[in-house]
Amino acid sequence: MKSTIEGFAAVTPGGVGCMQIRRCRSCNASVIWAKTRKEKWMVLDAAPNGRGKFIVSSTEPPECETFDEGNMLHANRYRFAAHWGSCPQAENWKRK
Ligand SMILES: [Zn+2]
Repeated sequence: MKSTIEGFAAVTPGGVGCMQIRRCRSCNASVIWAKTRKEKWMVLDAAPNGRGKFIVSSTEPPECETFDEGNMLHANRYRFAAHWGSCPQAENWKRK
């Protein structure tokens, strides 16, 4: 399960740009907190996921964008999946 650098998740396969890994408040899994353009916080699985719908920037805080197949700038980025798809406690924190 450890496809990330300890404590950090790489933004691109070359490791250019990293962001800090945090912990899910519910299940303690490694996650990335990233902000969307709408100023909302997204919680993403820290391990890159080839089918993930999001990419993140290496800014602080990281910014989250929807992966766009046709966008050349997105082509060499790791993709991440929303953590609520895999969090065993997702039911608890969706209700908030
Ligand atoms: Zn969780």
